[in-house]
Amino acid sequence: MSEEIQNFIRSLYGYECPVPLHEPSLGREEQEIILECLKSGYVSSAGPMVGRFELDFSKAVNSPYAISMVSGTAALHMGLLVCDVGPCDEVLTQSLSFVATCNAIHYTGARPTFIDISPKTLGLCPDSLQAFLEGNTHQTKGGLVNKNTGNLIKAVIPMHVFGLPCEIDKIARICQKWNLVLIEDAAEGLGSKYKGQQVGTFGDVGIFSFNGNKIITAGGGGMLVTADEKIAERAKHLSTTAKVSHPWLFQHDEIGYNYRMPNINAALGIAQLGKLDVFLREKRMIAAKYQNFFENRPELYVTEPDNSHSNFWLNAIVFPSGERRDFFIKNSNQKNIFVRPVWEPIHNLTMFKSCDRGPLIETNRLADLLVNLPSSPIKEICNGD
Ligand SMILES: *Cc1c(COP(=O)(O)O)cnc(C)c1O
Repeated sequence: MSEEIQNFIRSLYGYECPVPLHEPSLGREEQEIILECLKSGYVSSAGPMVGRFELDFSKAVNSPYAISMVSGTAALHMGLLVCDVGPCDEVLTQSLSFVATCNAIHYTGARPTFIDISPKTLGLCPDSLQAFLEGNTHQTKGGLVNKNTGNLIKAVIPMHVFGLPCEIDKIARICQKWNLVLIEDAAEGLGSKYKGQQVGTFGDVGIFSFNGNKIITAGGGGMLVTADEKIAERAKHLSTTAKVSHPWLFQHDEIGYNYRMPNINAALGIAQLGKLDVFLREKRMIAAKYQNFFENRPELYVTEPDNSHSNFWLNAIVFPSGERRDFFIKNSNQKNIFVRPVWEPIHNLTMFKSCDRGPLIETNRLADLLVNLPSSPIKEICNGD
């Protein structure tokens, strides 16, 4: 029954106020560093907080290079550009993702081609990826061609859905074998690990988001990580309007982007990153409570996949039927408990309807049954004041 779940959510998050899906936890540390940033006068691009945040971040995820961006979407776009994805190319990705993944592909002039997800991880299914490559492509001198469209397949973008790590080692091996670029959309995956390694650090490029609803926020922003020095340098150059370094001259050697994170956002990011471990502990505690509650219920709680450690950014359940799910969502929202259905699969959106795809059986099935439950870290504990 809906009511039992709602009562349980109320027992976690309180009885009076609306229960948001996920809201940031901000406290004294954030106030202090923002004030420090304001007093310094450096609030816009190229302040000292940006470099500090990038260094802190690269240490936190154990990646040699981290380059900040204005958003996760910008980081994805930049990641595709520096991996030479361009007009008429194709990128294999999952349809069950936030629309930004495919918007970024489209910005480069490339198109997404959709591969099914695995029901255990909700991320890109390595077997479906392998099957698509074996059945639908042939190698040419110019690269790997999709037989259905005649276009070159350049890259693969798996996404770590709700922070649950996908089977990234298998996907990485397939990319190596077929000579495809691997870009991880780890926008939701900060703090999630696969076989002990931070997700987002398995491919050529990984990206993260610091939007207000993510596990840490910078007000807005993103990060591109890579182990490749050349990629890092090119991402930094292209995202700072391709300006040639000089004390006063304005020389630009190609079409660039204004994608670097402002200093004031980086300041907020530093304070939030400092609390990541606290958030992770708290979120894993909430997840354990949800998992325990759903143990003997008709709805299935989506548990941590094998070999992985999830940040449990958003908790998710699978309803036994679409009607029951839709009733639960409507009824809960009327009671100010803001549960949400999973995204409409991207292959159903008008902009991407015509894109090529493999079979999308699990994508279509789960899109009708999945619900995200309120998952904010609990305030009293995280704010510390
Ligand atoms: C949030 C998100 C993004 C985009 O990040 P923004 O910072 O909002 O631009 C991209 N991909 C996924 C999967 C996301 O959840």
